[in-house]
Amino acid sequence: MILEKLSNAAGVSGNEDAVRDIILETIKPHVDEVTVDSMGNVIAFKAKSAEKRRAETRHGETLLTTLHAAATGGGEPRVMLAAHMDEVGVMVTGYTAEGGIKFRYVGGIDDRIMPGLRVQLGKDNIVGVVGLKAIHKTKPADRECSTPYDSLVIDVGVTSSSEAESIAPLGTYGAFMTEYRKLGRLVSGKAFDDRVGCSVLAELLQGKAYPFDLYGVFTVQEEVGLRGAGIAAHRADPTCAFILEGAICDDLPRKKDQSPTTRLGHGPAISIMDRSAIADRRLVDHLTAVAEREGIPYQFKQPGIGGTDVGSIHLTREGVPSVAVSVPCRYIHAPVAALDPTDYRNTVKLMDTALREL
Ligand SMILES: [Zn+2]
Repeated sequence: MILEKLSNAAGVSGNEDAVRDIILETIKPHVDEVTVDSMGNVIAFKAKSAEKRRAETRHGETLLTTLHAAATGGGEPRVMLAAHMDEVGVMVTGYTAEGGIKFRYVGGIDDRIMPGLRVQLGKDNIVGVVGLKAIHKTKPADRECSTPYDSLVIDVGVTSSSEAESIAPLGTYGAFMTEYRKLGRLVSGKAFDDRVGCSVLAELLQGKAYPFDLYGVFTVQEEVGLRGAGIAAHRADPTCAFILEGAICDDLPRKKDQSPTTRLGHGPAISIMDRSAIADRRLVDHLTAVAEREGIPYQFKQPGIGGTDVGSIHLTREGVPSVAVSVPCRYIHAPVAALDPTDYRNTVKLMDTALREL
């Protein structure tokens, strides 16, 4: 899996270049066509298998043909798989006289995690440290609340605003500086939301062709409002869509009365409803039927939490039946996330089998 490479690359929303390069290099030999659209989405086309073309007339009705008959797009049924390339991070907004770099967030980050953190700035991955007052100098009241981002600065080891500006001009991106590592039977790293989805999608594209035309789409700017996915779906004009994600996993600490969003080690998490969309129940039922028959563990993501690119994809054109399938990830939108490789493998297996039988 290319998760390690993808996780180590910096790709804050709107600056997905490094991630895109790895993906293009990985998938190009396995697809029929690749386009990078005007916003930077990668749209890969994988034509349906030759056997399928020969057997076409013998096939009866399938879920895909049923969905396609209800759509008005015409042509052949086609399926879109999508994962977002971007991650949350920071952007440089100004300087202090002493050479500190001011910043704001790109995407959702909790103020509590910033002080004392190492970040990588710009194309050259310049190291910066988010400054923190020594505990010896703080008052008890200081330690009871988080420090808002606008009272923090990134220290790049210079002493004037002009030096800081020459190192990191206005608008420079900053990403968490985290190396992918093993963590017991888990793996840890940054940006698993959604490099894990990108990795699953790349793996599916590397496999044998499916019995339908497939668009594998790696989207931009999900973390700032699902901005890239809609235009990519407009171009692909799919019959239905599956979105591959890294889902919130808050299964630690375990309390008796707690219902976690997802649980690590319990298989791919299927979204029924979140804040951005309600999944197409026919696709949900298809996924669970395949999982049960194949003995692949799966779980439902607790309804009502978070949002994904489904939010913009399902509202494209005349509507696209969609569902999100996620690998549970602990500590997303933080410097270090963790996932269980078994969940990853089961997600690939479930998606591959479900697609072949769609
Ligand atoms: Zn995500």
